Amino acid sequence: MDNWILKNAGLLVNEPAKDRPVAEGEVKVKVSYVLASNYDAVLYSGEGGACYPKTIGRFAVGRVTETCGECYGVEKNMRVLLLPERSCGNCLSCKTGKGEKCASPAVAGKDFNGFLRDFVVCKSRDVAPLPDSVSDTDALCAEAVAVAEKVCDRLALPTGSRVAVIGGNFTGNIIAQVLQYHKLVPIVIDNNPAALEKTRGCGIYYSFEADESLTENLMEATSGQLCDAAVYSTCSKLDPALTIRSVAEGKLAVIAGFAPINFNIPARELCDKNVTLSSVMNGFGYTDTAINLLVHKAADISVFDKEVLTEFDPNAVYKALSESAAAKFGKLKIFKLII
Ligand SMILES: [Zn+2]
Repeated sequence: MDNWILKNAGLLVNEPAKDRPVAEGEVKVKVSYVLASNYDAVLYSGEGGACYPKTIGRFAVGRVTETCGECYGVEKNMRVLLLPERSCGNCLSCKTGKGEKCASPAVAGKDFNGFLRDFVVCKSRDVAPLPDSVSDTDALCAEAVAVAEKVCDRLALPTGSRVAVIGGNFTGNIIAQVLQYHKLVPIVIDNNPAALEKTRGCGIYYSFEADESLTENLMEATSGQLCDAAVYSTCSKLDPALTIRSVAEGKLAVIAGFAPINFNIPARELCDKNVTLSSVMNGFGYTDTAINLLVHKAADISVFDKEVLTEFDPNAVYKALSESAAAKFGKLKIFKLII
């Protein structure tokens, strides 16, 4: 039996959870796969602001083993995504019955117990049924697609607009793919040739190294205008100044990803260019859209190598993830729980 509780920074302990009965409107889900994410690694390292103890694991899929009462579209034996965020219950939107517009959603593994455990009992609205065409691996990446879609909405740019994506890693790659699906033109910037190679493999036309010829390359790709927007992927660990440098005057820059890492944005350059800064740190409210985008292959998840761990030591996995100096283009590591 698995239930990996983060007791403190750097200390995960496997303690069997007490099963509680399924109440009216709730479902019981047997967890099948959990993605070992950079976000979980940040929580593990102690930087993520988790309230210990909490079961770790933000991204997971499973199968419904039990339902109770009216569960609106969720039935026993359905394959489901466990939603990585839930409405907080405390903000004005939540208190006025508009939980779907929650201002600060609670995050799995940080604000409520995550999913690296055998069973989860939760409200039926906290799971999303998965169509057959969306694989378990696709579904584990649905939150990244949701973030990408939220970024697109936030940018609200006309077709053909040039958008710099700083970071060609996992999240950056998916953001670029979704931008392209929406007929925007992503320009991926990274200092890792392998990540750039992978974005080119996804059909992304513009990808540049973060070197001294970057500005010249950007000017060429944008008819001398620089980009209409810039998106900084937080797990890229690239220089955030690239975000301001790549965007034209008076435009929007978005910080996007999962992990709330501290870094400095050059305020003078930001002010000189009159750039508006915004952030998208979750895909709350966009899960159904993300699943639909995956059905329509708006983002090709198969480009990422993956490693399915049937026997695992989460302490070692998260330690390695949190210690990697830069989020290089590693494999997706997926914990397979005993079914
Ligand atoms: Zn709320």
